[in-house]
Amino acid sequence: MAKCPACEHEVATPFFMNADAWRWLACPHCAAKLERKSPRYLVALSSFMLALIALGGLGHRYRIIASVLLFALMVAFLAATSAQLLRPELQLRKPPPKAEVELKISDPPELADHPIHKRAEEFD
Ligand SMILES: [Zn+2]
Repeated sequence: MAKCPACEHEVATPFFMNADAWRWLACPHCAAKLERKSPRYLVALSSFMLALIALGGLGHRYRIIASVLLFALMVAFLAATSAQLLRPELQLRKPPPKAEVELKISDPPELADHPIHKRAEEFD
């Protein structure tokens, strides 16, 4: 469950691995299109972890400090991740940007005897 940012109602969220269900998620109360808020603090935590690993390379004393901090950080990371999975934060989904290049699907006839088509026939 999560809170809809538009109408403050509770919204049932799909399983976190179900990317397709997430793509079509909308609020059943106000029909706002919703998406998962990307947890920015997880990115901050992982960059801090890298800094600690670098700190550990400076010497024996630093390595002990870095190890202790890394362990604490790992616990915080796990707690934050599981909280995010149990109760994800939602934000309104923006409409996708308009395509700059239009894709033309129809096959021009002069390409019919292109080598790539001959190769495809061999596999039929
Ligand atoms: Zn809503």
